[in-house]
Amino acid sequence: YRCDTIVEPRLSDQWFVRMAPLAGPALEAYRNGTLRFIPERRGDDYTQWLDGIRDWCISRQLWWGHRIPAWTCGRCGEITVAENDPSACASCGGEELVRDPDVLDTWFSSQLWPFSTLGWPAETEDYATYYPTHLLVSGPDILFFWIARMVMIGLEFTGKAPFADVHLTGIVRDAEGSKMSKSRGNTLDPMDLAATYGADALRFTLMFSAASGTDLALGAEKVELGRNFANKLWNASRFVLMNLDADFTAGSLNDLDESRLDVADRWILTRLAEVWRGADRAFEEFRPNDVANLLFEFVKHDFCDWYVEWAKVRLSDPAAGLQVRRLLVGVLEESLRLLHPLMPFLTEEIWQRLPLPPRPAESIMLAPWAVTGVSESPQARAAMASIQALVGAIRELRQELRIPPAARPRVVLAVPDAALRERLGEYREHILRLAVAGELEIHPALAKPAGAASAVLPGMDVYLPLEGVIDREAERRKLEKECERVERLMQAASRRLDDATFRARAPADVVQREEEKRSEFRTILERLERNLEAVR
Ligand SMILES: [Zn+2]
Repeated sequence: YRCDTIVEPRLSDQWFVRMAPLAGPALEAYRNGTLRFIPERRGDDYTQWLDGIRDWCISRQLWWGHRIPAWTCGRCGEITVAENDPSACASCGGEELVRDPDVLDTWFSSQLWPFSTLGWPAETEDYATYYPTHLLVSGPDILFFWIARMVMIGLEFTGKAPFADVHLTGIVRDAEGSKMSKSRGNTLDPMDLAATYGADALRFTLMFSAASGTDLALGAEKVELGRNFANKLWNASRFVLMNLDADFTAGSLNDLDESRLDVADRWILTRLAEVWRGADRAFEEFRPNDVANLLFEFVKHDFCDWYVEWAKVRLSDPAAGLQVRRLLVGVLEESLRLLHPLMPFLTEEIWQRLPLPPRPAESIMLAPWAVTGVSESPQARAAMASIQALVGAIRELRQELRIPPAARPRVVLAVPDAALRERLGEYREHILRLAVAGELEIHPALAKPAGAASAVLPGMDVYLPLEGVIDREAERRKLEKECERVERLMQAASRRLDDATFRARAPADVVQREEEKRSEFRTILERLERNLEAVR
């Protein structure tokens, strides 16, 4: 047994429930669509178990639990089963009754939970209102113990399945993927995690990382993702609030001056509408992790990293300033509403501090789950993508060539498309600021300038002349050394892969890893050689 004592089998009388008559209607409820499982494959497990169901031993020799309602007669030995304590034997009328000492299996009691908690068998208002309900969220490990039995007993006693949808989530496991257990000592206390990282950080991380119905390996450090995200949102919100001047008047996203919207405004409003649609659908389809991923990407990347940075250039512009501030507040406010189910505390805290035209509700909990219907702009989306790609490429070159953070290099572009040329020219100031560059030259066509680092993007070639920006001689030596090092690593991988014995004997995943390494080294080498060419 659990204490390692050898178990000695002994025959004894026990109480059983005949299950076949209960299983039939429960199977039927699934087959006719009254009952639905998410993910769907769990329906097969449910069917299999009910198809092969066996009678259920429900008596337990324990102290705690519902007592079995059966009395043995001291005179004739017959058993009386009754809802209320009987005063006499149902068989001979004798009064020497002894109650069965056993209690019910705990799952027998808990299968009654959906309706017994509502006052059943009394016809209470709660029971009439809340039974049956829509959704049960639970773990797949108790699909049979609890969920299937609630369905069977609900159908038996009330004639209705207790819920329509059963969402079976994954199970949180330890960092190595083993089941958490107290005896193994590999548990994480959620209260500790909440104290260390914040309750919203923990909640968001769990939502973000748990793909629907798949188990989640959780190490404490994973919760840093949620904490960093929460900090990012908090800091961006603080920035927005600090930049509202005393005479700021709130305004709705409905009343924007269309003529003053720039490419980033149109882009962020388009993205907001898209993200809302995506999140709404993901919630409908029980994919909370997709909701978390969409919002993470939007709030962190689109809003904080791009839109807020972009807006900084325009805050001092007297003509655009008020509208930009209204946009910052408006987009932030609607993002908070979308994020609220995943980060309830932080979003409420920030939301209460935002100046809103009229506050739509007393609490963000009561604010509508919707965003302002704005006109979406695929053109702005495409233009912004080009600008982001350009800024990203310049940042990458800066990093690879170790251009000092304070240096403001000149950026030279070859852009054949006239419309794109015009777009990029229009947002020159933003691009320079975001890429930390000094000058931006845009040409329709251009031979590669000598001594320039380069990157190729859809629709444009990017050059960064390095003269005077870095010490080319020192950089060349560093890059040459790095090239040699990576080349040696690549050759070592090649030798192993060319070795017939290695290929024959090593496990497939080891060979595959080696192949991945080689192709990774090749990519790095190509990039190094390209950069080397620029400094030669
Ligand atoms: Zn009797």
